[in-house]
Amino acid sequence: EEISLEVFIQNVIDTYQLKHPDFDIDCAIDDVGYFKSDPVLLASVFSNLIDNAYKYSPADRKQLDIRVRKAKRNIEFVFTDSGIGIPASEINNIFRKFYRVQSQYNQQGSVGLGLAFCKELLNFMNGDIFVTSVVNKGSVFTVTLPFEV
Ligand code: ATP
Ligand code: MG
Repeated sequence: EEISLEVFIQNVIDTYQLKHPDFDIDCAIDDVGYFKSDPVLLASVFSNLIDNAYKYSPADRKQLDIRVRKAKRNIEFVFTDSGIGIPASEINNIFRKFYRVQSQYNQQGSVGLGLAFCKELLNFMNGDIFVTSVVNKGSVFTVTLPFEV
């Protein structure tokens, strides 16, 4: 299905901000040309990354920067938050099913499936997800998907 990235991403952002108007989300999309994807699958990936950025940021630093750019054969979606960060020792665990880093930011009703599901979905679409993080500064999640499907 052909989707306009601008409209699509803005929709996901608007939907989230209806619930959380205090979330400051900045989005910049390069002219990436033609990109085809499944909007339902892609929206569930983006919603979980947006939700995580919100949940794992202190109240006075609820901000997220989303960049979309072209990289060789891939499109890249980069999510940069100013949240609590992830300790280096936990980086390899967070994509595991039901895994959650122990912290006061853990919310009831969350089960630790979001990132595992994102990774499964992205791999299913021949894409991937990577993270770099600095504790108390923030995290950068990068989603890659191929242009040619
Ligand atoms: P669910 O997504 O099922 O509601 P969850 O958000 O806790 O629960 P994941 O999305 O899989 O689970 O994330 C796994 C863990 O990784 C989280 O519990 C949290 O400890 C850590 N994490 C994920 N995203 C971030 C982030 N942006 N900043 C800091 N820690 C994060
Ligand atoms: Mg989550």
